[in-house]
Amino acid sequence: MIKINKTKIENIFYDCLYPIFCLNCGKFISNENKHYLCADCFKTIPIYSALFCPVCFKRISIIKKCHHNNKSYLDFLGCATDYENEPVKNLIHEFKYNFVKEIKITLGDFLINYWLKISSDLEINSKEIYVIPIPLSSKRYNWRGFNQSEELAKIFADYFNFPLLTNVLIRQKNTLPQAQLTKKERLFNLIDAFKIKNDSKSLIKNKTIILVDDVYTSGATLQQAAKVLKQNDAKKIIGLVVAK
Ligand SMILES: [Zn+2]
Ligand SMILES: [Zn+2]
Repeated sequence: MIKINKTKIENIFYDCLYPIFCLNCGKFISNENKHYLCADCFKTIPIYSALFCPVCFKRISIIKKCHHNNKSYLDFLGCATDYENEPVKNLIHEFKYNFVKEIKITLGDFLINYWLKISSDLEINSKEIYVIPIPLSSKRYNWRGFNQSEELAKIFADYFNFPLLTNVLIRQKNTLPQAQLTKKERLFNLIDAFKIKNDSKSLIKNKTIILVDDVYTSGATLQQAAKVLKQNDAKKIIGLVVAK
């Protein structure tokens, strides 16, 4: 008897109905691949291998921190790749503004590949790690239909078996989209934007938190979120983004 692979047939079916083309070179990609970049273009994406100072973006390490260390609520910034890279910029744009949710798999892979490169230098007990995504205002959530940071955080946390906390850090006001504001307005916009859910405070105490967002621009969002986490006794905060 011929054994029929159901998933394979389903993929052929989806390939005909909803063909996927590489966002960079236009080449056809099978649904089986689950990526929005073909293998050749994926290989060209530069993945960083260092941690960065959240203030001046200098490459830093656990032993060699920057003098901005006491000016930042984030202890480190982890960043997978470069926003100036054209395919990266296009992927993020399609994900955030054209709502192509499945791009999360490609962007999530950037985060995973980056973490595999840097995590051995971090010297953190993986049992102390929690992953928290930047929450979205309800207005933005309704507009996009998903929280892009949460989708990425989930892929990342699943891969490394880190617990994902989605209901601990919450937005307490509907802020304006940061992208529309100047640097000064961005900070003001976010003051008191976040809080920790009352019954979750003990959960984050003395923990290392990986705070996930899609991109790092002024850093105001991650810094304000890190601030409330630190005020509630989180030990160490690592911001983790796809690109800056
Ligand atoms: Zn391609
Ligand atoms: Zn610095």
